[in-house]
Amino acid sequence: MEKCDVAIVGAGPYGLSAAAHLRRLKGLDIRLLGEPMSFWERHMPKEMLLRSPWVASHIADPSEQLTLDTYRRVNGNRQLAYPVPVKDFINYGHWFHRQLAVPTDPRKVTRIDLASGGYRLSLEGGEELEAGRVVVAGGIQPFAHRPKIFADLPTSLVTHTSEQVDYANLREKETLVIGAGQSALEAAAFLHKAGAYVEVLVRNSTVHWLGHRAWMHKKPISWFFYGRADVGPAGVSLAVQRPNLFRRLPRRIQEWWGIRAIRPAVSHRLAPYAGYLPTHTGRFPVQADVDGDRLRVRLNDGTERCVDHVVLGTGYRVNIALYPFLSSEVLQRVERINGFPRLDAGFESSLPGLHFLGAPAAWSFGPLMRFVAGTEFASPTLARGILRKARGRRFYAVCSLVQSRGNLREGPSNPLA
Ligand SMILES: Cc1cc2nc3c(=O)[nH]c(=O)nc-3n(C[C@H](O)[C@H](O)[C@H](O)COP(=O)(O)OP(=O)(O)OC[C@H]3O[C@@H](n4cnc5c(N)ncnc54)[C@H](O)[C@@H]3O)c2cc1C
Repeated sequence: MEKCDVAIVGAGPYGLSAAAHLRRLKGLDIRLLGEPMSFWERHMPKEMLLRSPWVASHIADPSEQLTLDTYRRVNGNRQLAYPVPVKDFINYGHWFHRQLAVPTDPRKVTRIDLASGGYRLSLEGGEELEAGRVVVAGGIQPFAHRPKIFADLPTSLVTHTSEQVDYANLREKETLVIGAGQSALEAAAFLHKAGAYVEVLVRNSTVHWLGHRAWMHKKPISWFFYGRADVGPAGVSLAVQRPNLFRRLPRRIQEWWGIRAIRPAVSHRLAPYAGYLPTHTGRFPVQADVDGDRLRVRLNDGTERCVDHVVLGTGYRVNIALYPFLSSEVLQRVERINGFPRLDAGFESSLPGLHFLGAPAAWSFGPLMRFVAGTEFASPTLARGILRKARGRRFYAVCSLVQSRGNLREGPSNPLA
């Protein structure tokens, strides 16, 4: 069976960035597992533009040589626009991966079990790999939230936004979009462009538009209100940008600010669509039944809609138990809070040698971990944590050696015995 020191599961922005940092640790044998950028390729709308600012869309590498700016310069791609189109970001991710030259296996990890020296990973096709440590950077796709009333309905009638890269299949169809955030309103706009008849249901009493305080985002003063990643409202954003500060805040404040930072909100870029997309606030579905080849949906106000398709812009709810590759033995030994693993300062869970990056790290390090910008903090912190543990082990090994030699020399009177 093949062996390595660290296996990284997932080659999205967090996995790629972790690989870039860990490959710098001398003598560390790492493997990157999974197809690079596959979530962005298969689960995001083809025409999407990135929501994050340019400065917060670099995948972090230790020498800061693999930024979007370098990518643009090296590739002579002066056309790389801002906001960054998703297809360009995907190409950037692949370019980043090629520069790393890290041993990569594009197969999926089907299972992670405990083994004597650490972990045993089963790969698609049946091969196995043994690793001293595992870094889970598996992203959010398994956490796509499907409200109960839609849980058992077929995807021909109901899809989550993560299941649609374009909406050409819904041309001239009557569709209902559910949700109040960017994904929902963006899906509604794409549906409209694709020629579908769209109605949007928003549970909240209003749609929260971003960018209405444009003056606070102006360059000379924005640093006073917002962190570089621009995650969260004025002030809160500054704390979110500093995960080591955020994690030291009282839990009550972390929770309150965490919710504020990621509450459903919509970019002002979609505002032009708002005028002609029928959007109803304070409405949500309470029942859904198949009616021939359509869906009958009853709303909280007692009215009904009979539609061809429902698109759920209902977001993602982190719960690592939904990662299909974590064996129950592994899962049971990971301390969890509301589905998130509790992580130490080096992103290590309560199960030694098992680390989590990306959205699952948000309970421990705050909402920045849900965005590409979080790689700048997470990857070097992970690398330092692993290095510290390795040094600690070496120190411990030396101590044990000294102790055993002392035992041999001094017999039972050795105070270390
Ligand atoms: C519609 C949408 C728009 C977004 N826009 C932005 C934005 O503009 N800016 C921003 O910063 N963030 C944005 N985000 C958030 C974005 O998802 C995260 O910032 C980013 O993807 C986090 O990177 P990651 O590596 O944690 O996860 P991912 O990018 O999801 O990567 C995880 C990878 O792990 C792989 N994987 C999973 N399981 C296995 C397995 N068993 N074996 C091998 N591989 C596996 C997946 O296939 C995937 O490629 C957006 C999210 C959505 C849904």
